[in-house]
Amino acid sequence: MAGTGPPPPCHLLVHSFGCGAHYRERVSLYRDEGVVLRVQKLGEADRIVTVLTRRHGRVRAVAKGVRRTRSRFGATVEPFSHVDLQLYAGRSLDVVVQAEGLHAYGERLVADYARYTAGTAVLETAERLTAEEREPSLRLFLLVVGALRALVDGEHDAGLVLDAFLLRAMAVSGYAPALLDCARCGDPGPHRAFSVPAGGTVCPACRPAGAASPSPAALRLMADLLAGEWEGPDSSEVRTRKEAGGLVAAHLQWHLERGLRSLPLVERA
Ligand SMILES: [Zn+2]
Repeated sequence: MAGTGPPPPCHLLVHSFGCGAHYRERVSLYRDEGVVLRVQKLGEADRIVTVLTRRHGRVRAVAKGVRRTRSRFGATVEPFSHVDLQLYAGRSLDVVVQAEGLHAYGERLVADYARYTAGTAVLETAERLTAEEREPSLRLFLLVVGALRALVDGEHDAGLVLDAFLLRAMAVSGYAPALLDCARCGDPGPHRAFSVPAGGTVCPACRPAGAASPSPAALRLMADLLAGEWEGPDSSEVRTRKEAGGLVAAHLQWHLERGLRSLPLVERA
């Protein structure tokens, strides 16, 4: 009785044990929560959403009919939204079957330019740090949710929240800058010189040409943000924040470019 047509709509999806014919459908439907990183148009009414999920890493999925006024998903699937999703695993792209909003961070960020731009940088960095789709990164997911929540709460300066996120996201990705001991020889710090290519603070013997000499306050600020300490950062001076922010951005940029360059042979072929 092997059917030749497409499988019927599967009401057995919820069963623990399905018949063989339904097995594939049953296992390819999954549920996860995630933060919407990006939304792109697809045809007249559909969208492709990029979501950093808690358990399945970065996932791209089609949300059908989201631009129709009476869509089931409506404004739920928007950038910054923390959503609970039911997805059907497709061959190339997954399909959003159901979406339920948990926190609409975007609505609350859009009113404040500094917080909104910091949030945008959080989403973009999260996407760039997850080079491979479907590679679970629970720690990065938690950092993204924590950063968006902190930006909405408004307890700390938006730039500091962003830099704390970037430093900690780099740390979970294996790119944390050295901020105390020498990045090259491990000589105990604090050291005065900072070199992005060397990986952070460097001792006088290892200091390469072109190393910067940031203020000790800027290095301390970065170390506090990396450690999740807020007392010092909250009372830090604006120029120290700017200096630290510049070093964080340079460090991130260097590693992202290097990471991307080492990925495909496509560019050179
Ligand atoms: Zn050294």
